[in-house]
Amino acid sequence: MTRLIFLGPPGAGKGTQAQTLAAFLQIPHISTGDILRQAIQEKTDLGKKAQSFMDQGELVPDKLVEDMVEERLKKSDAQTGWILDGFPRKVTQAEFLAKLLNSLGQGGEQVVNLDAPDETVITRLLGRGRKDDTEEVIRRRLEVYRDDTAPLINYYSDRQKLLTVNGNQSQEEVFTDLKNIIAG
Ligand code: ADP
Repeated sequence: MTRLIFLGPPGAGKGTQAQTLAAFLQIPHISTGDILRQAIQEKTDLGKKAQSFMDQGELVPDKLVEDMVEERLKKSDAQTGWILDGFPRKVTQAEFLAKLLNSLGQGGEQVVNLDAPDETVITRLLGRGRKDDTEEVIRRRLEVYRDDTAPLINYYSDRQKLLTVNGNQSQEEVFTDLKNIIAG
């Protein structure tokens, strides 16, 4: 049973790698960013509440994403493993997740930290052209990453759950490293 959490700065290639690995392992790829963008497109209540935060590179309030993740992890396809991409993004969310997994009996999760230097992630994000990939919003997302999300590296390392992969290589090389590291 594979349960993986992907950590890393925006632009490290988390989304691509998480999606590829999930397809390879035949488990769901659960991306909170994708779910939120879908909700915005469909103009749901969740989408309306999340939009202004996302446009500015701020984190969406915990309760919104936490409810979303809880609902998703309870679905039947998530009972045979999953890859979480974009959640948790701060320590409060990690604490929420630990309790949730405990109550769902879904333990044994590992965390992959996909690391890449600032120059690499900025170049990649500017080339991507998503709505929140303007220079100003990217700068803010990197700040939020540094202040709120990067502390999760120590959080998970202290709990012996952290695996690190160098994201500053080709997609193929990252994928090879990923497969090796999760195989233990
Ligand atoms: P990236 O990996 O490029 O930062 P994501 O698709 O993971 O992009 O996230 C895009 C945006 O969605 C974030 O900037 C944030 O506003 C919102 N978001 C996604 N996941 C979370 C989360 N766990 N908590 C709060 N906001 C989130």
